[in-house]
Amino acid sequence: MEYKRVGVIGGGQLAWMMAAEAPKLGINLTVQTPNQDDPAVKRSYDVIFADVDDAFGTAKLAKVCDVITFENEFIDLEALQKLVQKGIYFNPSIDALAPLLDKYNQRNYIKSIDIPVPKFSLYSSQQDLVANFGFPVVLKARRHGYDGQGTFIIKDAESLAKLGASIPIRELLVEEFIPFERELGIIAARNKSGDVAIYPVTETYQKNQVCHWTISPADVTKEAAEEVKAIACKILEQLNVIGVFGIEFFLTKDNRVLVNEIAPRTHNSGHYTLNGCETSQFAMQLQAVTGMSLGSTALKSAGALMVNLLGFEESDSDYQEKRDRILEIPNSFVYWYGKSSRFGRKLGHVTVVLNKKELTQAKSTIEKIESIWYEN
Ligand code: ADP
Repeated sequence: MEYKRVGVIGGGQLAWMMAAEAPKLGINLTVQTPNQDDPAVKRSYDVIFADVDDAFGTAKLAKVCDVITFENEFIDLEALQKLVQKGIYFNPSIDALAPLLDKYNQRNYIKSIDIPVPKFSLYSSQQDLVANFGFPVVLKARRHGYDGQGTFIIKDAESLAKLGASIPIRELLVEEFIPFERELGIIAARNKSGDVAIYPVTETYQKNQVCHWTISPADVTKEAAEEVKAIACKILEQLNVIGVFGIEFFLTKDNRVLVNEIAPRTHNSGHYTLNGCETSQFAMQLQAVTGMSLGSTALKSAGALMVNLLGFEESDSDYQEKRDRILEIPNSFVYWYGKSSRFGRKLGHVTVVLNKKELTQAKSTIEKIESIWYEN
Protein backbone atom coordinates (compact mmCIF):
# COMPACT_ATOMS: atom_id res chain seq x y z
CA MET A 1 0.00 0.00 0.00
CA GLU A 2 1.27 3.46 -0.86
CA TYR A 3 0.32 6.42 1.29
CA LYS A 4 -0.61 9.69 -0.37
CA ARG A 5 -0.98 12.08 2.57
CA VAL A 6 2.27 12.82 4.36
CA GLY A 7 2.73 14.94 7.47
CA VAL A 8 6.08 16.56 8.19
CA ILE A 9 7.12 17.77 11.62
CA GLY A 10 9.08 20.98 10.96
CA GLY A 11 8.62 23.66 8.32
CA GLY A 12 12.16 24.80 7.50
CA GLN A 13 14.06 24.53 4.24
CA LEU A 14 14.22 20.73 4.37
CA ALA A 15 10.41 20.53 4.45
CA TRP A 16 10.30 23.27 1.78
CA MET A 17 12.41 21.16 -0.57
CA MET A 18 10.38 18.06 0.23
CA ALA A 19 7.18 19.98 -0.47
CA ALA A 20 8.46 20.79 -3.98
CA GLU A 21 8.84 17.05 -4.70
CA ALA A 22 5.49 15.97 -3.24
CA PRO A 23 3.17 16.88 -6.17
CA LYS A 24 5.51 15.13 -8.62
CA LEU A 25 4.89 11.93 -6.64
CA GLY A 26 1.16 12.54 -6.26
CA ILE A 27 1.56 13.29 -2.55
CA ASN A 28 -0.19 15.92 -0.41
CA LEU A 29 2.22 17.28 2.18
CA THR A 30 1.11 18.95 5.40
CA VAL A 31 3.63 20.56 7.73
CA GLN A 32 3.59 21.18 11.48
CA THR A 33 5.40 24.38 12.42
CA PRO A 34 4.69 27.32 14.71
CA ASN A 35 5.97 29.91 12.24
CA GLN A 36 3.73 31.56 9.69
CA ASP A 37 6.78 32.64 7.67
CA ASP A 38 8.67 29.31 7.64
CA PRO A 39 9.85 28.32 4.14
CA ALA A 40 7.60 25.26 3.83
CA VAL A 41 4.39 27.04 4.85
CA LYS A 42 3.81 28.57 1.43
CA ARG A 43 4.39 25.30 -0.39
CA SER A 44 2.35 22.99 1.81
CA TYR A 45 -1.01 21.51 1.04
CA ASP A 46 -2.05 22.37 4.56
CA VAL A 47 -0.34 23.63 7.73
CA ILE A 48 -0.82 22.76 11.38
CA PHE A 49 0.48 25.74 13.32
CA ALA A 50 2.05 24.19 16.41
CA ASP A 51 5.54 23.84 17.88
CA VAL A 52 7.50 20.85 16.60
CA ASP A 53 7.48 19.33 20.10
CA ASP A 54 3.74 19.88 20.57
CA ALA A 55 2.21 16.39 20.41
CA PHE A 56 -1.34 17.83 20.44
CA GLY A 57 -0.37 19.55 17.20
CA THR A 58 0.95 16.25 15.87
CA ALA A 59 -2.33 14.53 16.79
CA LYS A 60 -4.10 17.17 14.66
CA LEU A 61 -1.58 16.61 11.87
CA ALA A 62 -2.31 12.88 12.01
CA LYS A 63 -6.00 13.54 11.30
CA VAL A 64 -5.13 14.74 7.79
CA CYS A 65 -2.21 12.35 7.08
CA ASP A 66 -1.58 8.64 6.54
CA VAL A 67 2.01 8.79 7.76
CA ILE A 68 4.14 11.34 9.59
CA THR A 69 7.82 11.99 8.97
CA PHE A 70 10.38 14.51 10.22
CA GLU A 71 12.56 17.38 9.05
CA ASN A 72 13.47 18.33 12.60
CA GLU A 73 14.38 16.15 15.56
CA PHE A 74 13.63 18.58 18.37
CA ILE A 75 10.51 16.57 19.18
CA ASP A 76 8.97 15.24 22.37
CA LEU A 77 9.56 11.54 21.91
CA GLU A 78 7.62 10.37 24.96
CA ALA A 79 4.55 12.31 23.90
CA LEU A 80 4.81 10.90 20.37
CA GLN A 81 5.12 7.38 21.77
CA LYS A 82 1.62 7.83 23.23
CA LEU A 83 0.35 8.73 19.77
CA VAL A 84 1.87 5.51 18.42
CA GLN A 85 -0.26 3.60 20.94
CA LYS A 86 -3.29 5.33 19.45
CA GLY A 87 -2.38 3.99 16.01
CA ILE A 88 -0.60 7.03 14.56
CA TYR A 89 2.07 5.97 12.11
CA PHE A 90 5.54 7.53 12.04
CA ASN A 91 8.37 6.87 9.58
CA PRO A 92 11.07 6.62 10.78
CA SER A 93 9.49 4.97 13.81
CA ILE A 94 9.73 6.46 17.29
CA ASP A 95 11.75 3.37 18.29
CA ALA A 96 14.30 4.12 15.55
CA LEU A 97 14.62 7.72 16.73
CA ALA A 98 14.83 6.92 20.45
CA PRO A 99 18.58 6.23 20.70
CA LEU A 100 19.50 9.16 18.43
CA LEU A 101 18.01 12.41 19.72
CA ASP A 102 20.43 12.91 22.59
CA LYS A 103 24.06 13.11 21.41
CA TYR A 104 25.35 11.15 24.41
CA ASN A 105 22.80 8.37 23.92
CA GLN A 106 23.53 8.41 20.20
CA ARG A 107 27.28 7.95 20.78
CA ASN A 108 26.55 5.05 23.16
CA TYR A 109 24.23 3.45 20.64
CA ILE A 110 26.69 3.70 17.75
CA LYS A 111 29.46 2.27 19.91
CA SER A 112 27.19 -0.57 21.04
CA ILE A 113 26.79 -1.75 17.44
CA ASP A 114 30.59 -1.76 16.99
CA ILE A 115 30.87 1.32 14.81
CA PRO A 116 33.84 3.56 15.62
CA VAL A 117 33.15 6.96 17.24
CA PRO A 118 35.48 9.48 18.91
CA LYS A 119 36.22 8.74 22.57
CA PHE A 120 33.52 10.40 24.70
CA SER A 121 32.02 10.71 28.18
CA LEU A 122 29.77 12.98 30.16
CA TYR A 123 31.45 15.97 31.79
CA SER A 124 32.33 15.25 35.41
CA SER A 125 35.15 17.61 36.37
CA GLN A 126 37.91 19.68 34.84
CA GLN A 127 40.47 17.34 36.40
CA ASP A 128 38.83 14.36 34.78
CA LEU A 129 38.60 16.14 31.42
CA VAL A 130 42.28 17.07 31.45
CA ALA A 131 43.33 13.55 32.51
CA ASN A 132 41.20 11.72 29.94
CA PHE A 133 41.07 14.08 26.97
CA GLY A 134 43.58 16.92 27.31
CA PHE A 135 43.28 19.98 25.04
CA PRO A 136 41.95 20.68 22.51
CA VAL A 137 38.72 18.98 23.48
CA VAL A 138 35.17 19.17 22.19
CA LEU A 139 32.11 19.79 24.36
CA LYS A 140 28.61 19.39 23.00
CA ALA A 141 25.08 20.07 24.19
CA ARG A 142 23.23 16.76 24.37
CA ARG A 143 20.13 18.08 22.62
CA HIS A 144 18.92 20.93 20.41
CA GLY A 145 22.31 21.70 18.86
CA TYR A 146 22.39 22.62 15.17
CA ASP A 147 24.84 24.26 12.78
CA GLY A 148 27.48 24.14 15.48
CA GLN A 149 25.27 25.96 18.03
CA GLY A 150 25.92 23.82 21.07
CA THR A 151 29.31 22.49 19.89
CA PHE A 152 32.36 24.04 21.55
CA ILE A 153 35.95 23.35 20.53
CA ILE A 154 37.94 24.25 23.63
CA LYS A 155 41.65 24.85 23.28
CA ASP A 156 42.75 25.44 26.88
CA ALA A 157 41.78 25.63 30.55
CA GLU A 158 41.01 29.33 30.26
CA SER A 159 38.43 28.79 27.48
CA LEU A 160 36.96 25.92 29.50
CA ALA A 161 36.51 28.20 32.51
CA LYS A 162 34.87 30.82 30.28
CA LEU A 163 32.46 28.23 28.89
CA GLY A 164 31.72 26.99 32.41
CA ALA A 165 30.81 30.52 33.43
CA SER A 166 28.34 30.90 30.58
CA ILE A 167 26.47 27.56 30.45
CA PRO A 168 25.79 24.54 32.72
CA ILE A 169 28.88 22.59 31.71
CA ARG A 170 27.89 19.50 33.71
CA GLU A 171 25.15 18.79 31.21
CA LEU A 172 27.57 18.53 28.28
CA LEU A 173 29.06 15.63 26.39
CA VAL A 174 32.87 15.66 26.29
CA GLU A 175 34.57 14.29 23.24
CA GLU A 176 38.09 13.72 21.97
CA PHE A 177 39.15 16.31 19.35
CA ILE A 178 39.74 14.50 16.05
CA PRO A 179 42.41 16.20 13.89
CA PHE A 180 40.62 14.86 10.84
CA GLU A 181 41.99 14.76 7.31
CA ARG A 182 38.54 15.73 6.06
CA GLU A 183 34.87 15.35 6.85
CA LEU A 184 32.51 13.12 4.90
CA GLY A 185 28.77 12.77 4.69
CA ILE A 186 26.39 10.25 3.23
CA ILE A 187 22.68 10.09 2.60
CA ALA A 188 21.02 6.69 2.84
CA ALA A 189 17.42 5.56 2.57
CA ARG A 190 15.50 2.44 3.49
CA ASN A 191 11.89 1.47 2.83
CA LYS A 192 9.41 -0.93 4.41
CA SER A 193 10.55 -3.83 2.22
CA GLY A 194 14.06 -3.38 3.59
CA ASP A 195 15.51 -2.02 0.34
CA VAL A 196 18.42 0.30 1.02
CA ALA A 197 19.54 3.07 -1.35
CA ILE A 198 22.85 4.79 -0.75
CA TYR A 199 24.07 7.99 -2.38
CA PRO A 200 27.70 8.73 -3.26
CA VAL A 201 30.06 9.63 -0.41
CA THR A 202 30.38 13.40 -0.13
CA GLU A 203 33.18 15.61 1.16
CA THR A 204 31.83 18.27 3.50
CA TYR A 205 33.65 21.37 4.68
CA GLN A 206 32.71 23.03 7.96
CA LYS A 207 34.07 26.35 9.19
CA ASN A 208 33.27 27.43 12.75
CA GLN A 209 31.20 24.25 12.97
CA VAL A 210 28.91 25.28 10.10
CA CYS A 211 28.81 23.56 6.71
CA HIS A 212 30.08 25.85 3.94
CA TRP A 213 30.31 23.49 0.99
CA THR A 214 30.23 19.90 -0.24
CA ILE A 215 31.74 18.02 -3.20
CA SER A 216 30.34 14.73 -4.48
CA PRO A 217 31.72 12.19 -4.98
CA ALA A 218 34.40 12.70 -2.33
CA ASP A 219 37.94 12.12 -3.50
CA VAL A 220 38.69 9.26 -1.07
CA THR A 221 40.04 5.74 -1.41
CA LYS A 222 37.68 2.99 -2.53
CA GLU A 223 38.15 1.34 0.87
CA ALA A 224 37.13 4.47 2.79
CA ALA A 225 34.07 4.95 0.56
CA GLU A 226 33.05 1.31 1.01
CA GLU A 227 33.49 1.60 4.77
CA VAL A 228 31.25 4.70 4.92
CA LYS A 229 28.58 2.95 2.86
CA ALA A 230 28.78 -0.22 4.95
CA ILE A 231 28.38 1.79 8.17
CA ALA A 232 25.37 3.67 6.76
CA CYS A 233 23.77 0.40 5.71
CA LYS A 234 24.39 -1.18 9.10
CA ILE A 235 22.87 1.79 10.98
CA LEU A 236 19.70 1.79 8.87
CA GLU A 237 19.27 -1.95 9.16
CA GLN A 238 19.98 -2.17 12.89
CA LEU A 239 17.46 0.59 13.60
CA ASN A 240 14.95 -0.79 11.10
CA VAL A 241 14.74 2.69 9.61
CA ILE A 242 12.04 3.63 7.14
CA GLY A 243 13.09 6.99 5.74
CA VAL A 244 16.23 8.94 4.91
CA PHE A 245 19.19 9.50 7.23
CA GLY A 246 22.19 11.80 6.78
CA ILE A 247 25.34 10.55 8.50
CA GLU A 248 28.46 12.63 9.12
CA PHE A 249 31.95 11.17 9.43
CA PHE A 250 35.53 12.09 10.25
CA LEU A 251 38.18 10.60 7.97
CA THR A 252 41.42 10.45 9.92
CA LYS A 253 44.90 10.95 8.48
CA ASP A 254 45.47 7.18 8.64
CA ASN A 255 42.27 6.56 6.65
CA ARG A 256 40.05 5.48 9.53
CA VAL A 257 36.40 6.41 9.45
CA LEU A 258 34.59 7.55 12.62
CA VAL A 259 30.93 8.51 12.85
CA ASN A 260 30.40 12.08 14.05
CA GLU A 261 26.65 12.26 13.90
CA ILE A 262 23.51 10.60 12.61
CA ALA A 263 20.75 12.99 11.50
CA PRO A 264 17.47 11.03 11.29
CA ARG A 265 16.25 13.02 8.28
CA THR A 266 17.46 14.65 5.08
CA HIS A 267 20.65 16.63 5.54
CA ASN A 268 22.53 19.65 4.22
CA SER A 269 25.26 17.32 2.90
CA GLY A 270 22.63 15.85 0.55
CA HIS A 271 21.38 19.05 -1.08
CA TYR A 272 23.55 18.34 -4.12
CA THR A 273 21.19 15.43 -4.91
CA LEU A 274 18.54 17.98 -6.02
CA ASN A 275 20.25 18.45 -9.37
CA GLY A 276 23.16 16.06 -9.12
CA CYS A 277 21.33 12.74 -8.77
CA GLU A 278 18.52 10.87 -10.49
CA THR A 279 16.42 11.11 -7.30
CA SER A 280 16.79 13.94 -4.78
CA GLN A 281 17.08 13.10 -1.10
CA PHE A 282 13.69 14.81 -0.60
CA ALA A 283 11.89 12.70 -3.20
CA MET A 284 13.68 9.69 -1.72
CA GLN A 285 12.33 10.42 1.77
CA LEU A 286 8.79 10.64 0.38
CA GLN A 287 9.25 7.40 -1.55
CA ALA A 288 10.63 5.62 1.50
CA VAL A 289 8.00 6.74 4.00
CA THR A 290 5.01 6.18 1.72
CA GLY A 291 5.93 2.60 0.77
CA MET A 292 7.06 3.28 -2.80
CA SER A 293 10.05 1.60 -4.36
CA LEU A 294 13.20 3.70 -3.99
CA GLY A 295 14.51 5.70 -6.93
CA SER A 296 18.04 5.63 -8.29
CA THR A 297 20.80 7.37 -6.33
CA ALA A 298 23.06 7.58 -9.39
CA LEU A 299 24.81 10.84 -10.21
CA LYS A 300 23.54 12.42 -13.43
CA SER A 301 27.02 13.61 -14.32
CA ALA A 302 30.57 13.10 -13.03
CA GLY A 303 29.76 14.99 -9.84
CA ALA A 304 28.14 17.95 -8.12
CA LEU A 305 29.04 20.61 -5.60
CA MET A 306 26.93 22.57 -3.16
CA VAL A 307 27.70 25.90 -1.50
CA ASN A 308 25.60 27.23 1.38
CA LEU A 309 24.60 30.88 1.14
CA LEU A 310 25.03 31.94 4.76
CA GLY A 311 23.81 35.24 6.16
CA PHE A 312 26.59 37.79 6.64
CA GLU A 313 24.50 40.63 8.01
CA GLU A 314 21.10 41.40 9.52
CA SER A 315 18.91 42.24 6.55
CA ASP A 316 15.67 41.64 4.69
CA SER A 317 17.47 41.85 1.34
CA ASP A 318 16.96 38.96 -1.07
CA TYR A 319 20.40 39.59 -2.66
CA GLN A 320 18.93 39.13 -6.15
CA GLU A 321 21.95 40.67 -7.86
CA LYS A 322 24.41 38.27 -6.17
CA ARG A 323 22.16 35.31 -6.95
CA ASP A 324 21.97 36.32 -10.62
CA ARG A 325 25.75 36.52 -10.83
CA ILE A 326 26.11 33.07 -9.27
CA LEU A 327 23.62 31.73 -11.83
CA GLU A 328 25.99 32.74 -14.63
CA ILE A 329 28.11 29.71 -13.67
CA PRO A 330 27.18 26.89 -16.11
CA ASN A 331 24.83 24.22 -14.70
CA SER A 332 24.27 26.10 -11.46
CA PHE A 333 20.97 26.16 -9.55
CA VAL A 334 20.17 28.54 -6.71
CA TYR A 335 17.71 27.61 -3.97
CA TRP A 336 16.55 30.61 -1.96
CA TYR A 337 14.63 29.78 1.21
CA GLY A 338 13.01 33.20 1.66
CA LYS A 339 14.23 33.76 5.22
CA SER A 340 15.46 37.07 6.61
CA SER A 341 19.23 37.36 6.92
CA ARG A 342 21.10 36.91 10.18
CA PHE A 343 24.80 36.26 10.59
CA GLY A 344 25.56 32.58 9.85
CA ARG A 345 21.96 31.68 9.03
CA LYS A 346 21.41 29.31 6.10
CA LEU A 347 19.51 31.51 3.63
CA GLY A 348 19.87 29.37 0.56
CA HIS A 349 22.30 27.20 -1.35
CA VAL A 350 23.75 26.69 -4.80
CA THR A 351 24.26 23.37 -6.53
CA VAL A 352 26.49 23.03 -9.57
CA VAL A 353 26.42 19.89 -11.70
CA LEU A 354 29.94 19.03 -12.89
CA ASN A 355 31.46 17.11 -15.77
CA LYS A 356 34.69 15.18 -15.27
CA LYS A 357 36.97 18.13 -15.90
CA GLU A 358 34.85 20.53 -13.83
CA LEU A 359 34.92 18.07 -10.93
CA THR A 360 38.71 18.40 -10.76
CA GLN A 361 38.23 22.19 -10.54
CA ALA A 362 35.38 22.07 -8.02
CA LYS A 363 37.27 23.96 -5.32
CA SER A 364 37.95 26.93 -7.57
CA THR A 365 34.24 27.07 -8.51
CA ILE A 366 33.40 27.05 -4.80
CA GLU A 367 35.83 29.93 -4.25
CA LYS A 368 34.22 31.85 -7.08
CA ILE A 369 30.72 31.40 -5.62
CA GLU A 370 31.90 32.36 -2.13
CA SER A 371 33.69 35.44 -3.44
CA ILE A 372 30.50 36.63 -5.19
CA TRP A 373 28.38 35.89 -2.13
CA TYR A 374 30.60 37.29 0.61
CA GLU A 375 32.15 40.29 -1.20
CA ASN A 376 30.96 43.66 0.11
P1 ADP B 1 25.99 20.04 14.84
O1 ADP B 1 25.18 18.89 15.38
O2 ADP B 1 25.57 21.36 15.38
O3 ADP B 1 26.12 20.00 13.34
P2 ADP B 1 28.51 18.68 15.19
O4 ADP B 1 28.64 17.90 16.41
O5 ADP B 1 28.21 17.92 13.93
O6 ADP B 1 27.45 19.85 15.41
O7 ADP B 1 29.83 19.50 14.97
C1 ADP B 1 29.95 20.51 13.99
C2 ADP B 1 31.37 20.52 13.45
O8 ADP B 1 32.30 20.71 14.53
C3 ADP B 1 31.82 19.24 12.79
O9 ADP B 1 31.37 19.15 11.47
C4 ADP B 1 33.34 19.38 12.91
O10 ADP B 1 33.84 20.27 11.93
C5 ADP B 1 33.49 19.99 14.28
N1 ADP B 1 33.62 18.91 15.28
C6 ADP B 1 32.63 18.32 15.98
N2 ADP B 1 33.09 17.34 16.78
C7 ADP B 1 34.43 17.30 16.59
C8 ADP B 1 35.49 16.48 17.11
N3 ADP B 1 35.26 15.54 18.02
N4 ADP B 1 36.75 16.72 16.65
C9 ADP B 1 37.01 17.69 15.75
N5 ADP B 1 36.05 18.49 15.22
C10 ADP B 1 34.79 18.30 15.63
